[in-house]
Amino acid sequence: MAGAYCIMTVSTHSSITKHLAPLQDQYARTISYLRLSITDRCNLRCLYCMPPSALTTHADLLSFEEMLRIVRVAVSMGMNKLRLTGGEPLVRRGVMDFIRRLAQIKSLEEIRLTTNGVLLHDSAAELRKAGIRNLNISLDTLQPQRFKTITGSDLFAQVWQGIQTACELGFHVKINVVAMRGINDDEFADFARLATRQPVQVRFIEFMPIGNKGNWDRERFIAASELRGIFSTLGNLEPLPGSQMEGPARVYQLTTLDGQTGRIGFISPISHHFCDQCNRLRLTSGGRLRACLLHDHETDLKAILRGGGSNDDIGKAIRQTIVNKPKGHTLHDDSTELGQVNCQGRMSQIGG
Ligand code: SAM
Ligand code: SF4
Repeated sequence: MAGAYCIMTVSTHSSITKHLAPLQDQYARTISYLRLSITDRCNLRCLYCMPPSALTTHADLLSFEEMLRIVRVAVSMGMNKLRLTGGEPLVRRGVMDFIRRLAQIKSLEEIRLTTNGVLLHDSAAELRKAGIRNLNISLDTLQPQRFKTITGSDLFAQVWQGIQTACELGFHVKINVVAMRGINDDEFADFARLATRQPVQVRFIEFMPIGNKGNWDRERFIAASELRGIFSTLGNLEPLPGSQMEGPARVYQLTTLDGQTGRIGFISPISHHFCDQCNRLRLTSGGRLRACLLHDHETDLKAILRGGGSNDDIGKAIRQTIVNKPKGHTLHDDSTELGQVNCQGRMSQIGG
């Protein structure tokens, strides 16, 4: 059954008419959030993410003009929140101008950014001026030497400076930490201290068998329930009312044994699916629209754009992708599939 998907009209090229109802998939999930991987290039080589293989060629990469067109159509259909990711979004030349143009799209309520922080110190002020208020910054260790081991670059100090600058400028900052046994599981107390001392929310993400899956290992995987158990030995964990489901994260207030408070989130794509609340689509750096991070079905929007398709054609393809959005994925931490069946696309092309 195709279910209650939206009634919407999208005109050809120049004008785009407004949607008439929220975009819903066949499981009554409202789809309002688009994640855009604006490049698969990156200035780091995180061990869990970047395989050494070839990147998308420049010709295959969507231009900013093409991305703007897709975003405008998606927004006209009812999507209102955008996240820029990658690869590392800040390495793509012209990104600031792109953000400024995105910010002019009426009805696009929010543009967020996920970054590794390497270029943040120098770009934070401009990002803020362009209208970005929320940053997710990935940082898996607070130890400079270990940072080099995980990312391949000796740039911890630069990332740390970027985080400080972002906080000083008043961004809402979330620090994303991929929890990995034997790699950074001895630093959870340090991350808890970070959350109590700095105005940041620290969020732990389960290590997924996606990206550079050659480095994925069941032994390294730590389920969110185990993580919560570890944090409850550091103090009292109280679910935060109203923000318990902040995106895919379950967010808690941690009150440490010495009375300090901070916000800690847990993102559990493997052990506790949030598929029933999923509101997102992903556009890869190569212009393919994905309805699920962990399902490989993609709609080739770039082919439509470059084949002379109209906005109406783009809108229909977006709607069809939403109609076909799978109910959920099937990876569980007790699944024998874990580590075998997974996303064939590269994390940097999809954007996490
Ligand atoms: N370069 C930016 C960054 O690192 O924040 C944005 C792109 S990165 C692909 C987006 C997020 O995906 C990061 O927080 C990263 O830690 C996460 N990620 C990448 N590979 C992962 C994996 N195998 N398991 C869990 N999270 C992963
Ligand atoms: Fe680059 Fe982000 Fe992937 Fe690390 S996680 S290699 S910073 S894209």
